[in-house]
Amino acid sequence: MTSDAVVPRQYEFSGRQVDVFFDADFSLLKEKLSREKTVFITDENVFAAHQDKFIGWQLIIIKAGEFFKNQQAVDTIIEQLIALHADRQSFIVGVGGGVVTDITGFVASIYMRGVKFAFVPTTVLAMVDASIGGKNGIDVGVYKNLVGVINQPDFLWYDYSFLRTLPFQEWVNGFAEIIKHACIKDAPLFEYLEHHTVNDFQVSAEEIGELIRRNVAIKLDIVVRDERETGERKLLNFGHTIGHAIENTSRLPHGHAISIGMVAACRISEAIAGFDAAATTRVTRLLQQYELPVTFLADSTQTWEILLHDKKRRGNALSFVVLNTIGKAAIQSIPLDQLHQIFNSLQ
Ligand code: ADP
Ligand code: ZN
Repeated sequence: MTSDAVVPRQYEFSGRQVDVFFDADFSLLKEKLSREKTVFITDENVFAAHQDKFIGWQLIIIKAGEFFKNQQAVDTIIEQLIALHADRQSFIVGVGGGVVTDITGFVASIYMRGVKFAFVPTTVLAMVDASIGGKNGIDVGVYKNLVGVINQPDFLWYDYSFLRTLPFQEWVNGFAEIIKHACIKDAPLFEYLEHHTVNDFQVSAEEIGELIRRNVAIKLDIVVRDERETGERKLLNFGHTIGHAIENTSRLPHGHAISIGMVAACRISEAIAGFDAAATTRVTRLLQQYELPVTFLADSTQTWEILLHDKKRRGNALSFVVLNTIGKAAIQSIPLDQLHQIFNSLQ
């Protein structure tokens, strides 16, 4: 363990401090947590790949995948918490990808009106995005994250060794959010990514550690300034308006859907925010370099219908995240008929 694990980076939210432990060995959690009071929640894949790590801890194992991020999973977890005699002093730790951390944060926020919790993210996506910022919730039918809370964990614990067992496609998924961060906030990061591939990060613990830290900082700095998403935090939705609509109408994983959404958002940025066409080409190329899809194959009528229900719609306009340049994003309101026109030209 490096000194960072002993001395966390601390982020102040309204009334809650979040400690971030980088490069921290999972086994050292035993020095921080009581075995009696702690309940781990993980999914069946993470458990299968890392069984040894959970020996001696109270554990709840849920089914893997976004399909099971629903109320039924919440009920099952609550029943098991009751069976384990979890009480208000219990501490719940979600060990897994975004599905596990979302559901854990949600259950911990409602069980006995709220118990303390923490996350050990085990996917690239959860490490750089999903586990950060306090949004916890579940899906209802096709509606992603329709029910949930904003509530910060006590700490985030980064043990990169979990990534050794992460399937390649899940690495790719996570890079969609990393490229998003570069697009909206960090042009040098964008350039750095242009000189690498997924494989470079898979084989170097040092490079992936460095990349994750940089991305955690980008996201945490934003959400600390705007926890409730009244302003700057909205920029993190770059690629997500069209991306979510695609995700809902297709079976694409989140990263793939937002990759296509980002290309679409670049085109819209060209039309309404002066974004350079050559920059769209650069973004598209980078996404492809990280093995992400860039062409739009979803059912366009259905996707448009879902877009119309977007939370960011205000009457006849939608507030949309555009890029002015690579590394600089802004929110712009776009009339629905103009959006529809551009949307149709994307096919
Ligand atoms: P995400 O983190 O992408 O939001 P999930 O929580 O669904 O989404 O995780 C993606 C998939 O990767 C799931 O099938 C999950 O069980 C699996 N997974 C998560 N972490 C690991 C890991 N470290 N090793 C192997 N599989 C993992
Ligand atoms: Zn996302």
